[in-house]
Parts: sequence; C-alpha cells; structure tokens
Amino acid sequence: MSSPSNNRVRATIVGSLPKPTWLAAPGKLFPPWRLDGAALAEGQEDAVRLWVSAQERAGLDCITDGEQRRRHYIWGFFQGLEGIDTAHLAMRAQRAQRYHKEIAAARLVAGPEYRGPIFVDALRATLAMTDRPVKVTLPGPMTIVDSLADTIGGRSEAQLAMRFAELLNLEARALSAAGAAVIQFDEPCFNVYVDKVQDWGMTALERAAQGIIAKKAVHICYGYGTADVKRWKDANTDWSHYEQTLPLLAKSSIDQVSIETAASGVDVGVIEAIRDKEVMLGVVDVGNEAVETAEIVAERLRHALRYIDPGHLYACTDCGMLPRSRQAAEGKLHSLAAGAALINAAL
Ligand code: ZN
Repeated sequence: MSSPSNNRVRATIVGSLPKPTWLAAPGKLFPPWRLDGAALAEGQEDAVRLWVSAQERAGLDCITDGEQRRRHYIWGFFQGLEGIDTAHLAMRAQRAQRYHKEIAAARLVAGPEYRGPIFVDALRATLAMTDRPVKVTLPGPMTIVDSLADTIGGRSEAQLAMRFAELLNLEARALSAAGAAVIQFDEPCFNVYVDKVQDWGMTALERAAQGIIAKKAVHICYGYGTADVKRWKDANTDWSHYEQTLPLLAKSSIDQVSIETAASGVDVGVIEAIRDKEVMLGVVDVGNEAVETAEIVAERLRHALRYIDPGHLYACTDCGMLPRSRQAAEGKLHSLAAGAALINAAL
C-alpha cells in the first residue's frame, strides 16, 4: 500500500443500504421482494448499480453492494446452504432478549452443508461496475447460532458455531479468490455474550477467516437503528462490552474492526486497544433520518485521532442503513466522505 493512503482517513460503510421501493418495502428488516424470477434478478442488479454509483459519487474508499440481493444480512447466507428452512420459522429468544422477548428464527433442519459459492456471482457483477475495492459481508458464527432455531440438537452452541465457521470459511475463501478486498463478519453478538466471545467466539471467528487473502474484518454493533433497539440504548448504562472484546481482537489475525460510537454511550478511547488494527469507526447514526454534517463527522474522527493514526481510521456508519430512507442514506454517505476529507485537508 502506498504511503499517502496510509496517512489519510478513509471512508466506508458497514454494509447494507435501503432497498428502492420498487424492489422491497422500505423501512423493514425482512421485507418480501416486490418482484420475482428474472424481474427480481434484474431489479436487484439495478439496485446494486444505483448504490455503487451513489457510493462512488459520495467518494467512499471501499464500497459494498448494499446487500441489495439479500432479504436479510443472515438469511442471504442461510439460503445458500443445505439444511436451513427460512420459510417455516420458529420463535426463540435472541440476543439475550435484549431487544425483544422472542423473535422469528430460521430453522436448522439438517446438516448444515455448503452447496457451493453463494455470493461469488454477485461479487463479480459488483466488481464489473466499479474500480473501487469491494467489501462482502457475511454473518459471524456466533450471531448465526443465536439467530437460528436448532431442531436437530445434540451439539453445543460452540460446536454448531464451529461447523458454521467451516462453511463460512469456504465461502470467504471463494469470495477472496474472486477479488473481494475485504470479507467482513457481522458479529453483533460479540456485544451481547462477552464471556462466550472469550470461550469460543474468537476461535470460531478465526476459523471462519482462516487463510483468506482479502482483509479480514469484523463488525460489532448494538443492532440496527430500529425503535426496539433505540429503546434499549436509551435505557442502557453499561457500555463496557468493547472494553472486553477489543483486547481479544488486538491479539487476533483480524485486520479491521467496525465499532459503533455515534448512537451508543461508548467511550471512543476503547479503540486504543486496537490501534494496530484498522478501525471502522461508527461516526454516523443509523437510527435516525437526520443527516450529520461533515463537520460533525470530522469532529468525531478528530476525537478518535487522539488514540490511533489517521491511516488506521475509517469514517463509517454505526451499522447497516437498511432501515433508513434512500435520501437519508445518500446524505449520510456524503457526510462520511466529506468529514474524512475535512480531516485529510488539515493533516
Ligand atoms: Zn450492525
């Protein structure tokens, strides 16, 4: 990597962006598609093109397909596996009941087995639209196990997570070989079950990321910016989760860590523990429609620069922007890049 990029703050997003209204109902987490068959494939392709272009126009350094081809960040992976039923759901407690008592979960009915590459064709299509580095997101093993109703039984959570880690690794290797710049594992559960992160979560994450050429990233957040999550955040007083997980990540092979700071009470100083990694710092709140100014983004980045070097810092969203309006998401993309540019101009 050339030295200029090593010395400047870059900009990216966690992953998801809102679906256009002609593709799926806006503001929902599991919206059904409004198209099917060939029309759906064409609509998804158009939606990806729209968001690739928006991220380029905004000036992001690393882009995603906005997860326009998946109904949900976990189910996109599930639907490519053998043994998971995403049609007949089961209610179960998830995320230690932090946000809801119970929530509908896909069911593990066999295996699971890997049928072959799931997102590789989608990645190739995105790479053909842009010269920018492209990130692909996958659900992390701990979050998968917490989001699935296991109807088979006989395996501990840790054993099941390791099985999913093996399958994730096959997909991550295929994506990496096809040209993904970054493979990101989404692990919101790392902020919920901090003891399990130490016991087996890190081991499963390392297994999922083993041997890939692309940069290895992990996204750890306090959930989407939905009303239930916001209610929990407003009432929460303990923000010590990253203090326990980031030192573990500091010792790992993971290259990039995405953390949420804009809409949480987290002290930005926690990033000092991972100053040798690249930090995707959440400086944009995904829980409201108000677009941060570039100056607010720059101020949050400036605060972070007390703890890490600019070349290790990305201006990033707190989480996915799936629940936001297109207008707000576009505005926030611009603020991320413009805020980073303000910092870089002053460096
Ligand atoms: Zn998130």
